[in-house]
Amino acid sequence: MKKSQAKQKAKTLLDFLQKSPTAYHAVESMAKLLADRGFFPLSEGTDWSLEAGKGYYVTKNQSTILAFRIPEKKPEQLLLSASHTDSPTFKLKENFEVLANDYLRLDVERYGGSIYSTWLDRPLSVAGRVIVFENNTLTSKLVNIDRDLLLIPSVAIHQNRKVNEGVALNPAIDLQPLFGTGNAKGTLKKLLAKAVGCSVDAIRSADLFLYNRTPGSIWGADEEFFSSARIDNLMCAYGTLQGFLKAKAPANSLSLFASFDNEEVGSDTKQGAGSVFLRNTLERIAKATGADISKLLANGFLVSADNAHAIHPNHPELYDGLNVPKLGGGVVIKASASQSYATDGMSSALFSEICKNAGVPVQHFANRSDLPGGSTLGSIADTHLPILTVDIGMAQLAMHSAYETAACEDILHLESAAKAFYETGIKLEQDGKYCISFE
Ligand SMILES: [Zn+2]
Repeated sequence: MKKSQAKQKAKTLLDFLQKSPTAYHAVESMAKLLADRGFFPLSEGTDWSLEAGKGYYVTKNQSTILAFRIPEKKPEQLLLSASHTDSPTFKLKENFEVLANDYLRLDVERYGGSIYSTWLDRPLSVAGRVIVFENNTLTSKLVNIDRDLLLIPSVAIHQNRKVNEGVALNPAIDLQPLFGTGNAKGTLKKLLAKAVGCSVDAIRSADLFLYNRTPGSIWGADEEFFSSARIDNLMCAYGTLQGFLKAKAPANSLSLFASFDNEEVGSDTKQGAGSVFLRNTLERIAKATGADISKLLANGFLVSADNAHAIHPNHPELYDGLNVPKLGGGVVIKASASQSYATDGMSSALFSEICKNAGVPVQHFANRSDLPGGSTLGSIADTHLPILTVDIGMAQLAMHSAYETAACEDILHLESAAKAFYETGIKLEQDGKYCISFE
């Protein structure tokens, strides 16, 4: 039963991943799930009238989304999850047609830290948004050229006999995708215009990214694994959203779901976790509900959800001896003395209790003591919102590859943990003492 349920969940997630080739599309996919569940869209530029018992969502730059439910009673606690919508890729420059040797290539630059080699020799395409000028209005329209369109070819081994000893790929030389022959000049703009239903001349600018066309796959001896592009971090975005949608929160609990853009480039943008967008939104909610924002933050808990490194089958030596997550082993709590992860003893204990109560297994990750490891958005968001925070994630392999791998069962683990989290009652009795209750 659990196996077929996990496989079914993986299929649903793969469908979500396929519909979300860029952060813009991920936000559009999530907004649709929220709207289907009765959440109302808000615009940052208008007045908000928020009603108790109703759910709302607001987006920024079309690439970050916040959703929240106004509780029936005055909010006394804040439960919030945060993930990210972006993944490492390559971005097209304003002038992108490079014509040489009767080939037309696209001029791209890197976005975030990809494993370059994983982008070679596989079908790619272009998605993002184009800015269209019509009737004195600039409108951003999402676009996805939904077919195999581009490829970055390797150099043949005969021309680089040392290729299997390791190759340094230069993004300015080795990673420019091939689009067509010299005759293809002007074609991409025509395809974009056709896709959004405007004239070529009406396109004033764009934010366009490459994406991997390889469809997601469920595989392994027992079909226990799945692979896809963008598992980091849309697996967490999707799983926490499902938990948020299914949870029945306590009557005085403000539940908030956040998924931010630009984590892969440091989060310090107007729509990133380093911005005041979340804080400003909380202030508007507090004003509408009469809640005290400092009290909400004190009686609050942030789950920062971003995937973790599962032990690698061929390279176990890269891991800490004791704090090593495995695929399918449940939610991973990530901690680091440097505070690159925001987890502390209290947040780790509190989240472990929530998982235990929900029957979800917990594992722990720490970097090998001589390796720096990664970071995520929890500690960055905390600089504007001083709130108890735990960094979690689901175990995965090949983080920042164009094709990553995780375990089907872990999607169930994440959804159950996220649902249980939003149903928890938390009260700060005094500094260092939290009372918790489960609905
Ligand atoms: Zn991530």
